[in-house]
Amino acid sequence: MRTIVVWFRRDLRLSDHPALAAAVAEGARIVPLFVFSPYLLTHPETGSGRVQFMLGCLESLRNNLRVLGSRLICRWGEQAEVVPDFAREVGATAVYWNADSERAWRTATDCQVVSALQERSIEARCFEVEALLPAGGPESYALKHFTPHWYGALSLPTAPRPTELPAVDERIEDAPLRTLADLGLPPSDQQVLVAGEREAHRLLSAFVATKARHYLKSLSVAVAATESTSRLGPHLKFGTISVRQVYQRVQSRIGQVDSYQKRNLEGFISRLFWRDHFGQKLRNLPRCESESYLQAFDEVNWSTRTDHYQAWCNGQTGYPLVDASMRCLNRTGWLPFRLRALCATFHCIDLLLPWQGGALHFMQKLMDADVAIDHWQWQSHAGVSNRGRQWFRVYNPIAGVEKIDPKGEFIRQWVPELEGVSAAHLGAPWRHEVEYLPPIVEHEEARRRALAVLEPIKRRCSQASDAS
Ligand SMILES: Cc1cc2nc3c(=O)[nH]c(=O)nc-3n(C[C@H](O)[C@H](O)[C@H](O)COP(=O)(O)OP(=O)(O)OC[C@H]3O[C@@H](n4cnc5c(N)ncnc54)[C@H](O)[C@@H]3O)c2cc1C
Repeated sequence: MRTIVVWFRRDLRLSDHPALAAAVAEGARIVPLFVFSPYLLTHPETGSGRVQFMLGCLESLRNNLRVLGSRLICRWGEQAEVVPDFAREVGATAVYWNADSERAWRTATDCQVVSALQERSIEARCFEVEALLPAGGPESYALKHFTPHWYGALSLPTAPRPTELPAVDERIEDAPLRTLADLGLPPSDQQVLVAGEREAHRLLSAFVATKARHYLKSLSVAVAATESTSRLGPHLKFGTISVRQVYQRVQSRIGQVDSYQKRNLEGFISRLFWRDHFGQKLRNLPRCESESYLQAFDEVNWSTRTDHYQAWCNGQTGYPLVDASMRCLNRTGWLPFRLRALCATFHCIDLLLPWQGGALHFMQKLMDADVAIDHWQWQSHAGVSNRGRQWFRVYNPIAGVEKIDPKGEFIRQWVPELEGVSAAHLGAPWRHEVEYLPPIVEHEEARRRALAVLEPIKRRCSQASDAS
């Protein structure tokens, strides 16, 4: 019987795991492996709160494997060396894993692993688990190609969950890496989320059964969004559930509900689609992990005001809606879409700070931080990614209160200094003699100043594309 190492990465589950299912189908002796990467653990975008969640997912995976008779082996080190060395140590003839292209580093490391395995005559097999196309030219993320592929791929049957697994040799050592301290990371002061496969399915069930009913309407309202979105982001990030599982469950529900609920569930599916479309774009354009899609914007004289950046990060801008959002993000690791967008435009337009700094802070704090979604969303809200769109969408942090937090509950929860202040005064407390931090910029003036810098560049980018 041959031995296959199944290398877990951002797919910390047992069901719909194509690499594991293929190894099981071969009747192989399976050794499940997870490798902590020093590159990722020390990456500036890594946050202890999210690693804590990942450790919870690993603990759950470890328990689930144990129930089936297997054992998760954890190791630490450069994956390009650890994985091939481990395969040799356990006498494996193959290493199987699921594809992931979240970072250019990931793609480069996988290539190195493949070469090192081939040198040792060990088979390397990568399974496509996301509904993405191989990296290619712009045509693979063009919607006319990507859309039919995405719907087709997600409609394929899910990979079966194993019912039992072969035991792993007791002599194979599992490194004792269970806590942030074991990994050399500082403690997190963020709220801890329940992790693991079972929790992901519980969230999906709750969403499909009740929460989704007013999904679309609630997206723009802070308190309602907190109660009505799926909260599956961190689970999709670490793969305790696959997009295919979510998609198929929602599709089957669509057949049973009234037209109002159907519209809401379809709206949710369109968000899953955007998620993967961002993933496809980053797979094709890995430079956009750090550079603007429209490179001319990287030459802009962006602000270097570190005091503004710190005030934004800490929720001390004087604009209560921005401040409440940033404090909520810092503490919980989550923010509804509309508030992420508002904070992003405040950062890039009102403060004229480069999108990369804002994206960095979001990545450090978000439990669902995903390079592809986060960096494309940031670029989109900074206006540096869309050649065809001439205008910049700028959220108004004062008027926005009326729509996003009409009763002021969200602001008062996160900015206790404003407790007792009426909702009508929460947009711009300084205009109502309410004692609060003074605004660090004047919104209208800052918006005009930023657009005077950014709009001519956008026009030049559009003209260049028209001419080409
Ligand atoms: C500046 C900015 C940064 C963002 N960064 C991230 C990020 O790092 N990770 C992340 O998952 N989402 C990000 N989003 C998108 C969105 O805000 C979150 O996905 C959503 O709020 C997460 O809550 P949920 O899991 O309850 O999502 P739901 O609304 O229940 O949606 C389910 C899933 O669909 C995907 N999704 C939902 N909305 C979007 C969207 N607008 N674009 C792309 N995918 C979407 C996510 O995977 C999400 O978990 C960002 C949005 C903005 C404006």
